[in-house]
Amino acid sequence: MSLGPEKLGEALEQAGLLAYFPPGSLEGLLRFTHRMLQINESLNLTKWTGDEEVLTHHLLDSAHALPFLKPWVESPRRWLDLGTGCGFPGAVLIAAFPPLQVTLLDSVAKKTGALEDCLQAAGWNSPTLTGRAEEVGRNPSTRESWDGVVVRAVAEFRVVLEYGIPLLKTGGHLVNWMTDDQLKVVDKSGPALQALHSEIVKIADYSLPLLNQKRHLVLVEKLGKTPPTYPRPAGQPSKRPL
Ligand code: SAH
Repeated sequence: MSLGPEKLGEALEQAGLLAYFPPGSLEGLLRFTHRMLQINESLNLTKWTGDEEVLTHHLLDSAHALPFLKPWVESPRRWLDLGTGCGFPGAVLIAAFPPLQVTLLDSVAKKTGALEDCLQAAGWNSPTLTGRAEEVGRNPSTRESWDGVVVRAVAEFRVVLEYGIPLLKTGGHLVNWMTDDQLKVVDKSGPALQALHSEIVKIADYSLPLLNQKRHLVLVEKLGKTPPTYPRPAGQPSKRPL
């Protein structure tokens, strides 16, 4: 990857997002990304490997949530990137909001192991967590313990809700990145939102340079405690969405 801080800074500036990054933070983000792409040569983490692809699909796409997250992340709070894969969108939150503690969660130990390496390369001390969201949500020591959860490209919205809402404290927020197709099923999410005592507070549209598609961010607030029946055991949420 030859992508440097100047080119990344320019692209973020054009999207109106550069101001969310503190001085020097782009360098850490690029060290993380560079290490991830090195590891990707031997371990399959991402299909986006060219400079433009990485810039668009990982860095800019993740950064589009920053304006909406800003009011929720001013104090040192705990956020979680659920199904982080190659570390996005979590890495962009870590770079932009240093007071946040952002945990990178994935069910695949090889991926979280690789991410430890990338975090170290960036000089960040954020934690990783290996496990399925359903197990983390059923474990009393981790259930209802995060202020926010970000989720991109993990499952359909109803499943994402059952994975993510039990991890949140009451009043916490979940942000789900979506394509047009994924947005279509949001209409079907009424029963899941009700069962999980949560509501959609905003749907924001955005687009990425050179891509002729609309993208969406769905922002959800948790209104009350999650009933003990949720999340159902591992595998059930995706087999039979609420
Ligand atoms: N968020 C990243 C990766 C998406 S791929 C991105 O946008 O690029 C989906 C990732 O979610 C995979 O790494 C997979 O291992 C993880 N995953 C899928 N189901 C999960 C679950 N139930 N709990 C935790 N991680 C899960």
